[in-house]
Amino acid sequence: MPEKENPISLYFHIPFCTAKCGYCDFNSYELQNLIEKKQVHNKNWASEYTDALIMEIKGRVKELQLTGRKVQSVFFGGGTPSLFPPQEIKKILLTSRKFFDFIPESEISLEANPNSSDYDLFKKLKKIGINRISFGIQSFNDILLKNLDRIHSGKDAKRAFYLARKAGFENISIDLMFGIPFQTKEIANDDLQNAIELNPEHISAYELTIEPGTSFHALHMKGELNGLISENLSLEMWEMRDQILHDAGYEQYEISNFAKLGFRCKHNLNYWNRGDYLGFGAGAHSLIDNQRIWNHLRPDIYIKNSQTPTAGEEKMENAKKILGESLMLGLRLKEGVSLLELKKKTGFDSEILFKNHFNDFYKKNLLIKDRGKLKLTKKGMLLSNQIFSSLL
Ligand code: SF4
Repeated sequence: MPEKENPISLYFHIPFCTAKCGYCDFNSYELQNLIEKKQVHNKNWASEYTDALIMEIKGRVKELQLTGRKVQSVFFGGGTPSLFPPQEIKKILLTSRKFFDFIPESEISLEANPNSSDYDLFKKLKKIGINRISFGIQSFNDILLKNLDRIHSGKDAKRAFYLARKAGFENISIDLMFGIPFQTKEIANDDLQNAIELNPEHISAYELTIEPGTSFHALHMKGELNGLISENLSLEMWEMRDQILHDAGYEQYEISNFAKLGFRCKHNLNYWNRGDYLGFGAGAHSLIDNQRIWNHLRPDIYIKNSQTPTAGEEKMENAKKILGESLMLGLRLKEGVSLLELKKKTGFDSEILFKNHFNDFYKKNLLIKDRGKLKLTKKGMLLSNQIFSSLL
């Protein structure tokens, strides 16, 4: 299929949150803070941001000649998109549908925070076409949630989940986190059991990382981040996660993602397959025909420049870089990367360009070649960050 006929994904970044979590390095801001600094308007912060997004959709479609391009998935991420009024989400979807051709089975996801969710909201979201909700639950343990600066409780999370189900959502994902300060194996086990009891279609279960620029990182640098768990315990939790979720009928299809049959996240699969996507909003990134574009980070600067929100762009022409990126993304998938597909897509042979890397990984039992596909071994998945950084 020619590149231009491949369906793309759309991402809308909603950067507003009620409070900033200590570990968060996303491009997200406390709404009240932005209002106090007069970076967004007190009353119409949501509609002015929507206007900017709509302006950007129109501009990008024209600039990149994308009218009528097929769309397979839309993702409202953040930040906290469930803080954003549904009527604004509706305007964004209507505009997108005007310019793009949504395939009938398009996945349209929205990230929700358990504390900013109610039945009425879910009903409205369902009505305007959202068909997948992704809850940032992280843990059901109130002490750990407090350690993470989350503003919801375990009870809020369960309540929000049931309300979304009641409102008719048949595709719900929940995020869980491992390696939270003071988390024990018993607490991690409880989190998994609580998650399974809710019976979501999809579970993302990932490890906490201490990222520069976060308040966790600042504390860590001062030696004041208490309760960090050991590498051994982290490995034990990782193994327990895989076993428990497998036994409960969830298939692991990516390093940190598990799904029931038919419920893999289409949007993220497109990223991992290095498909084309358009990102709209403050700090959003796009990849279209090997062209990378990224937007201004700060919401007020993005809003002011919504006609030309690009902060930078790069045409990717270096074969080794494109291949390295494709491998780094594709190897996250349990089924691995087809060497032939990769060659067809990029025109280059990764077994030649990365010969030394692959041999080294085979020797260390990090990578295997199985029926034309490259796959990470269990050990490779555990050490994936080291492997990926050496490929770039
Ligand atoms: S709610 Fe999500 S996006 Fe907002 S600060 Fe917390 S982790 Fe970051």
